[in-house]
Amino acid sequence: MYLSPTPKDMGKEELLEHWRETGMITDERVLDAFEAVPREAFVPEDLLHDTYSDMPLPIGGGQTISQPSTVMLMLQWLEVEPHHTVLEIGAGSGYNAALLSHLAKEVITVEYNPELAERARRKLRDLGIDNVTIIVGDGGEGHPDRAPYDRIIATCACPTIPAPWMEQLSEEGVILAPEGSEFSQTMVRVLEGRREELGGFRFVPLRGEYGF
Ligand code: SAH
Repeated sequence: MYLSPTPKDMGKEELLEHWRETGMITDERVLDAFEAVPREAFVPEDLLHDTYSDMPLPIGGGQTISQPSTVMLMLQWLEVEPHHTVLEIGAGSGYNAALLSHLAKEVITVEYNPELAERARRKLRDLGIDNVTIIVGDGGEGHPDRAPYDRIIATCACPTIPAPWMEQLSEEGVILAPEGSEFSQTMVRVLEGRREELGGFRFVPLRGEYGF
């Protein structure tokens, strides 16, 4: 969880304004993607009033759709280009994948929970998004069939970046993942073999072979 000073009851336009004014998000493509994707389509009906509150929301199965500021920071750090193929670990609601669909050529997203995967698939289809493929499986293993990836982004916490992700990354590729314990993590970006740490966060844990 990214702890921001953003008031909780903002609308979409106010969030955009907040990010522009504070200089927190400056990447226009990322801001445009946020503008284009209806977050309300991915939020449970009883929480619609909090769609544009800057906090994570439960999406079922003990999982969450990340806080808007966290999603935006991660997308900005990922530096996705229009010709990229992106691998996401943890499709969840499908919201982040929908944003990525605007930034990348193609998005492969792996989701552990089959019910969440099915629901996300339906939502993306209803929105007419056709460059995202949702795979049910253990994202710790990556998805070797479509490797190498220009960008790999994990939206769940891992104890350490799984070896398969490194193996499936293109030469100039970037990995962004929250690394740490089950309860608190540091955002790590790997590029050109270098590791950068980008601050403290809290994500739901990666399950499976490489998880908790
Ligand atoms: N990106 C999502 C938020 C995901 S929350 C969104 O925009 O809504 C993290 C997700 O990671 C959860 O849906 C959880 O089921 C999934 N997850 C946990 N372990 C996983 C694994 N080993 N492989 C794939 N997905 C995993």
